[in-house]
Amino acid sequence: MWDSSKCNLCGDCLTRCLYVDYDKSKAAGDIKLLMEGKPADILYKCVTCCACYEYCPTGADPFDLILKMQEQTHAFPISKEGVGMFGLAPTIPSRVTEGDADKPVLSLCVMQLPEGAVEGQMFKGMPVATGGDFFCYVGYMHAGMESPLAQNAKKFIDNLAALGREIVFLHDDCYAMVDAKVKDYGINVPFKYMHILEYMRNYLRDNQSKITRLNKKVAYQRPCASRFTPGKDVFVDEIFELIGVQRPSRKYERETALCCTGAFVRVYPQLAAEVQAKNVDDAIQAGADALITLCPMCDRVLRKPTAEKNLKKIYITDLCRMALGEKDFPD
Ligand code: SF4
Ligand code: SF4
Repeated sequence: MWDSSKCNLCGDCLTRCLYVDYDKSKAAGDIKLLMEGKPADILYKCVTCCACYEYCPTGADPFDLILKMQEQTHAFPISKEGVGMFGLAPTIPSRVTEGDADKPVLSLCVMQLPEGAVEGQMFKGMPVATGGDFFCYVGYMHAGMESPLAQNAKKFIDNLAALGREIVFLHDDCYAMVDAKVKDYGINVPFKYMHILEYMRNYLRDNQSKITRLNKKVAYQRPCASRFTPGKDVFVDEIFELIGVQRPSRKYERETALCCTGAFVRVYPQLAAEVQAKNVDDAIQAGADALITLCPMCDRVLRKPTAEKNLKKIYITDLCRMALGEKDFPD
């Protein structure tokens, strides 16, 4: 949550933003205007990638300030139909499948996954929760809106708590809500939870004899919501180490990762095409054999731009399943 007392107007948030070309003076000037409740240029240029949350060295949360002002001024030019798509998510019928009594529940939110993404030995026997009751509302950030998160966070937590089990979150947005955003709203999380990356790291670490190292280089598409929970990036590195894949250093990764463009592809299509091309070219130049996705939205959005440049795109659970001998690495 935005905390003006922590802001020293250093400008780092917007000088590091990959979607504007701001110097320190312009950055500090825009933040100052927003602090005073006045519109600033950044409201009309921000693509809602969440990165400035992570860039701010004092924890002032400038993205929250920008998002609230975007909502107030309607500065993010998303159509009514675009916002309406988020409104449909809570109406998707919910379902919790049967599973083994000793297994945590795998929560999928309302995401459509690549086929077979949660099949195989890693997920065998896990109950699976899907549908509107388990929608985290974090996607509304990409509609330039914050209030739906605040209004629905408690309901989201209560629905998960009612499952009465430990939860494993596949969707990075849900994990961001549970691990970070609820603190803004003063909500306690009354259940144990972990991110799917930690779950898979644990499984692979405990079943190393089943792993055949892949000996590949892969680039990782970091989801926007990971800006709120950057500490779990270590699990990506540990998984890659366990399955024998190298994460080559490249320009757009970790803190300097580009958005997959799912946040703004309908709003700024030309910019989205340019960003997609920069991202895929960067992975290719780094020598990656494939681009690995975690967020199902990133996976869908990057399908076409990777295919056009002959870069393989692999969902992260599938990559692990390849190391477990359940799937082949694509030719
Ligand atoms: S919000 Fe953070 S990064 Fe931005 S100007 Fe203030 S202190 Fe600096
Ligand atoms: S959310 Fe992303 S695009 Fe928007 S100002 Fe922050 S860093 Fe820039």
